[in-house]
Amino acid sequence: MTNLRDLTFEELEDAVVSVGEKKFRAKQIFEWLNKGVCSFDEMTNIPKKLKADLAREYFVYGLEIVKKLESAIDNTKKYLFRLYDGNMIESVVMYYKHGITVCISSQVGCAMGCKFCASTIGGLARNLSSGEIIEQIIFAQKDIGERISNVVMMGIGEPLANFDNVIKFLKNVNDERGLNIGYRHISLSTCGIVPRIYDLAKYKFPITLSVSLHAPDDESRSHIMPVNDAYNIKELTDACKYYQDKCSRRISFEYAIIRDVNDSVSCAARLCKILKGLMCHLNVIPVNNVDENEFTKPSVEKIKRFCDYMEQNGITATVRRELGSDINASCGQLRKNNL
Ligand code: SAH
Repeated sequence: MTNLRDLTFEELEDAVVSVGEKKFRAKQIFEWLNKGVCSFDEMTNIPKKLKADLAREYFVYGLEIVKKLESAIDNTKKYLFRLYDGNMIESVVMYYKHGITVCISSQVGCAMGCKFCASTIGGLARNLSSGEIIEQIIFAQKDIGERISNVVMMGIGEPLANFDNVIKFLKNVNDERGLNIGYRHISLSTCGIVPRIYDLAKYKFPITLSVSLHAPDDESRSHIMPVNDAYNIKELTDACKYYQDKCSRRISFEYAIIRDVNDSVSCAARLCKILKGLMCHLNVIPVNNVDENEFTKPSVEKIKRFCDYMEQNGITATVRRELGSDINASCGQLRKNNL
């Protein structure tokens, strides 16, 4: 059985035609799916026979909200969703001036092992299908009753380790017959799976690529990010240069700043050297608390000194606003099975 939301519009058309129905039914069904129906029964204008025919091969279900937390500070909402097989993931809705943004997961758990991140504790259970990735947007939107206009793939999992499903998701979320979210309103964050950055560049999607760098040299990066042993900083920045040339998009680098680990001015100086020649933006994220590790944020002054150094050396650096801090909904705090 396949999740009906895993199909692209064209695949849905083929499925409808293959059981002897007219193509326009696909458009109606696609609309229902993107509105957030939880069963075939809810598709009231679709003939019973077509629904029964499709139900032999496909299932329709709703992501179940197991838990929902709302921040008293900034209205950020964190959802714990149950998937059809009982696995769970988290997604976060944030209210920005430029529109409502959802942070979505791409895998159940994560195999990357970054030392500061809660999402990787307990490892990887499985990939999400493209339908399960898009369902997080559909059901969050249904719950809040307002249109979500921006998407960041910065939740649980490494999107580029689930490449094919993420590509399919990107095409589907952009489909004007569906959610119709523009590529320019989508960011994808990776810890740096270098070969997949080259693969992604081929699609030339005008999305924003965010790269989790977090350290200014290989030794310290390998220490906190095991992925660096597979693909080092030089290989990663070469891939970023290629991506940037191919897609003409500025890359966004993420730097979780950690007290006494990567927060000195000498770290900033090394970081400048690495980023030289890249058309980029540095997103500094004061490290968020995760109970299982000891990492803590540097002082506000220290962070400012770090950012000032970057700016003085020609690299725009902004400190990411921390949203949902009272509900553990910030970067690196999402988990599977968070009951
Ligand atoms: N796997 C992808 C997508 C996750 S995005 C990636 O690594 O990019 C989540 C972002 O938050 C990443 O930049 C991640 O490195 C960062 N992050 C993880 N744990 C964090 C923490 N405790 N504090 C701040 N940022 C964290």
